[in-house]
Amino acid sequence: MGKLCDFFHYQLMSSKSINYQFKKKLNSTLGGEAHSYCYQCGACVGDCPAAMYSVDFNPREILLQALLGDEEALTKKDSPIWNCTNCYTCYERCPQAVRPVEVIIALKNICYQKMTASPEVNQIVESVKASGRTVRITSLSDRRRKELGLGEIKSVPTDELKELFEP
Ligand code: SF4
Ligand code: SF4
Repeated sequence: MGKLCDFFHYQLMSSKSINYQFKKKLNSTLGGEAHSYCYQCGACVGDCPAAMYSVDFNPREILLQALLGDEEALTKKDSPIWNCTNCYTCYERCPQAVRPVEVIIALKNICYQKMTASPEVNQIVESVKASGRTVRITSLSDRRRKELGLGEIKSVPTDELKELFEP
């Protein structure tokens, strides 16, 4: 959807209804609570690497959707939030301490709960649960580390992790 269409879409939506229930959920999810402080200045967009390379991604627009509680747009299966690289540049730029990246992380967590996250995300979560790592350590990684003079990778206490993951 083009920028002009986005504008009219949100004008129309804001005149209709705001999904306060979803905003409440975002407020109670770690990192999402500051979304209401966004005043749409756009300072988070200028140096955002994801916005530079993806026409579908714009942190200011994501915050606008969050302000309106647009659950469908933000948590659908191919939501643009997954284009965020978690680089934290917007965290530094935002004059309102909204911490946009953390709002986006909160939205990703909501997607995971709703099972709308991509299979790749689910694989990473399973890997963390099983080994405490986002990627598998192979004999090749061990060999490369040795060649580079790096020490052995210590194992992660997965028992403690399991306790953290228990509901
Ligand atoms: S953390 Fe995400 S939204 Fe923020 S600047 Fe980086 S890529 Fe953009
Ligand atoms: S910089 Fe902060 S206040 Fe400005 S649009 Fe981005 S999130 Fe909102």
